[in-house]
Amino acid sequence: MPVGKSLRVRLRAIDRRRREVRMFAAAMQQRARPVLAQIIPIRRCNLACSYCNEFDHSSEPVPLSEMLVRIDKLAALGVSVVTISGGEPLLHPQLEDIICRIRHHGVIATLISNAYLLSPQRIQALNDAGLDYLQISIDNVEPDDTSKKSLRVLERKLEWLARDAEFSVTINSVLGVAVKDPEDALTVARRARALGFHSTVGIAHDGAGQSHALPERQFSIYQEIRRLETGVFSFAHYDRFQENLVRGLPNAWHCRAGARFLYICEDGLVHWCSQQRGHPGIPLVDYKHEDIEQQYAIVKECAPFCGISCVQQTAMLDEIRENPRGMLQQLIERRRGTDPNFRTPLLLRFIAWAFLENPRARALQKAFVRLLGLHSTKTQPRGAAAGTLNR
Ligand code: SF4
Ligand code: SF4
Repeated sequence: MPVGKSLRVRLRAIDRRRREVRMFAAAMQQRARPVLAQIIPIRRCNLACSYCNEFDHSSEPVPLSEMLVRIDKLAALGVSVVTISGGEPLLHPQLEDIICRIRHHGVIATLISNAYLLSPQRIQALNDAGLDYLQISIDNVEPDDTSKKSLRVLERKLEWLARDAEFSVTINSVLGVAVKDPEDALTVARRARALGFHSTVGIAHDGAGQSHALPERQFSIYQEIRRLETGVFSFAHYDRFQENLVRGLPNAWHCRAGARFLYICEDGLVHWCSQQRGHPGIPLVDYKHEDIEQQYAIVKECAPFCGISCVQQTAMLDEIRENPRGMLQQLIERRRGTDPNFRTPLLLRFIAWAFLENPRARALQKAFVRLLGLHSTKTQPRGAAAGTLNR
């Protein structure tokens, strides 16, 4: 990699980390503050995966002016991460302007794409717009009737990304009862790692967001892919939700969709998630702190076998908030479970000391929040000062 590009990539990675720490601090600071929003700038897709219920072949892109209003509103609500999804978002002619606006607010910009429309020029445009993360799901090695999101078809795009992308790339492979060739998931994950990308494995869910137990062979492939991810803070090492689901076990958790996570459809309505549209179905422009508080408290009946991992990740923030010592301990234990030689890194030891064991932890947290320049959002309840840990 040329020195200039290598330096830019490193600096951008540092800046991403800074904003992620800021996101974490913001989520710890305030309970009913949205963390992650998924927005749909276009419902149309250039593919037609047989399992998908999130696309059509006809809808027009949402006008840029409308998308910018939605992003401004999400920023005002205090959202830390905006994921652009679809349909296929690369079909939106002004996608880069949407990303620029997200970054203008200091928010982390993530894109989910099937990558078919990527070219070296488009990758450069995404670099210039300030994209932080790109996630590509690859379903198989060779295209078939179920999906054309295939390693062989996308290989050249992946090589361009490895060469040119200044954003982080994650390749998601998929397992599930309906997957015909589960070995493909391992091939995809290994290729992703060889190209220097992150790799994750998703468990296919049905049209209501529900996942089902994996057959034995798929289960061992799942564990093998998990071991490919080595970072101690990697979600792969702490995905107890997925761990239970692949065994056919329910999860006891409180889904905070509508509060910590917002799904904004192409019509600008807030929904719990892509698979539970219609709840609450309130226009984003009218969404208020009271709505967030109300949705935060609602118990979702679809939660025990839910396979929507991005919503579960936001819920984990509340578990950390409520039981930081226990969660940190579990993180270390699970990491040891996949690597018996694992030694707790210095950074984790420092975090444990600074935030969990030190009697002055509250003062340290406040100083940390000030250092990060966090401010209260417009939706913060009256009387709650910035930097206070309000429940
Ligand atoms: S590429 Fe994505 S949005 Fe398009 S049909 Fe397939 S899963 Fe659905
Ligand atoms: S539990 Fe939450 S994220 Fe999962 S399907 Fe239900 S509403 Fe969606």
